[in-house]
Amino acid sequence: MPHAQGEGARAAGFDCDLLVIGGGSGGVRAARMAAQRNAKVILAEAAALGGTCVNVGCIPKKLYSYASHYADDFRDAAGFGWHVGETRFDWGVLKANRATEITRLNGVYQKLLEDAGVEIVTGWASVTGPHGVRVRTERGEREFNARHILVATGGRPSVPDFPGCEHVVTSDGMFDLEPFPGRLVVVGGGYIACEFASIFNGLGARVTQLYRGEQVLRGFDADVRRFIAQEMRKHGVDLRTNADVASVEKTSAGLEVKLKDGTVLVADTVLYATGRVPNVENLGLEAAGVRLGRNGAVVTDDFYASSVPSIHALGDVIDRVQLTPVAIAEAMVLADRLFGEGRRSLDYEFIPTAVFTHPSIGTVGHTEEEARGRFGRVDIYRSDFKPLRHTLSGSGERTLMKLVVDAATDRVVGLHMVGADAGEIVQGFAVAMKAGATKAVFDATVGIHPTAAEEFVTMRSAVV
Ligand code: FAD
Ligand code: NDP
Repeated sequence: MPHAQGEGARAAGFDCDLLVIGGGSGGVRAARMAAQRNAKVILAEAAALGGTCVNVGCIPKKLYSYASHYADDFRDAAGFGWHVGETRFDWGVLKANRATEITRLNGVYQKLLEDAGVEIVTGWASVTGPHGVRVRTERGEREFNARHILVATGGRPSVPDFPGCEHVVTSDGMFDLEPFPGRLVVVGGGYIACEFASIFNGLGARVTQLYRGEQVLRGFDADVRRFIAQEMRKHGVDLRTNADVASVEKTSAGLEVKLKDGTVLVADTVLYATGRVPNVENLGLEAAGVRLGRNGAVVTDDFYASSVPSIHALGDVIDRVQLTPVAIAEAMVLADRLFGEGRRSLDYEFIPTAVFTHPSIGTVGHTEEEARGRFGRVDIYRSDFKPLRHTLSGSGERTLMKLVVDAATDRVVGLHMVGADAGEIVQGFAVAMKAGATKAVFDATVGIHPTAAEEFVTMRSAVV
């Protein structure tokens, strides 16, 4: 039954209906949506509002990606008749402008929460029981008794233990590096490693990326992986596969990175982008009876309830899909279940994603390999071309587009792109894919000319 904010909680002897631990993408959305559904909500955040995405993730990363694209733009301009004089990149200006924008966003988040009626408590929170939360604030400890607790504490970078690991930085430390790293070694082959290698390469660093396996971006379509590796190399990233670090040593020449095959590299900064683990340390979850899984991820059902029915969890801390829009979508499901229209679950199929490499990757649905395993016979449509822009720019950058079609139903079950604005393009196609569009529907769609995106509706001959 709808009630005035907090009325129900107080009547039942609780301080609030929902206490959210973590003011990141998932926590903020859950808190706001619950408050808008008349719940009394308290949100505890230890650091800056907005969490990983706003402070050390998606937003600052994308701003730096924009910054780094100017290097290509200046080079490309000549072919179009522009004579760009001497260009110089000022790292200090970029850092300062980013910091100002992020501070503005922190304020936006605070206002959104306050306007919705959420009480913000600044400090580290831990769970003391099925309904109990303790927050360590600057002014001492505060205890709360909450009808529901939401753990939305996100994740943190994980660095393996090896000789010299104390000398490396993680993505958290990359945004404010001082000075700019002229020589950067990036370890890893996932989203963060590939994005930061591309970004710092564009900004002018000499980048060596070391990946332990055969090909970067495990889990992506094999053509995409091969193509992006080739394009990143073309752009200047020294990408080495089957490369394992043995040790890092601080010397007067810089950080000496010794590989297991005996190769020695010298760098100003070594970035380890080797995955992230859920933030559950010192949260008191296990003592409260909450079951934790691999890497400490909170185990939940499809509706984000943990093994303790009054304690819920979502976002990176449950380690399903570590993406901001997914954390937000999960939060909406939870707010609806606890305080709104009821029980619905999130469909994890056809979640689009982009990797902001140079050029970028956009993808939705199944890889060719997955589709073959799941559907049996699939038709593959592939196009690899020089984009119109680069007919004059002189750049050798190429674009890859690929469709994976289930032959039995004609449904497009995978759509992959490597090229400029891939994320922007794939977002639109993701709607069609979610709606179950067939190849015949793609064929019946009139293209927008001249664009790269039109290629997705004009591919006629299956290659396999
Ligand atoms: P978070 O946003 O991490 O928020 C958790 C919050 O909880 C933090 O603010 C933390 O301070 C707080 N907290 C933790 N413990 C406690 C405690 N005990 N008490 C109080 N507060 C606590 N995703 C995309 O979709 N697109 C991208 O382009 C993208 N780029 C990324 C780039 C980088 C470098 C990184 C690291 C991640 C990126 N991601 C991206 C992933 C995205 O940032 C996360 O999936 C998203 O932030 C998860 O949201 P969350 O709410 O689960 O956790
Ligand atoms: P990923 O899991 O994507 O990649 C981790 C990489 O590190 C893999 O290449 C892995 O290799 C490698 N690795 C793991 N352990 C070691 C080790 N001990 N030594 C050497 N290499 C190792 O994690 P990220 O940290 O890149 O990103 C975390 C998550 O954040 C992503 O999965 C994504 O969900 C999200 N994110 C999203 C972005 C976006 O949407 N654009 C951008 C950035 C992050 P192997 O493959 O062999 O296991």
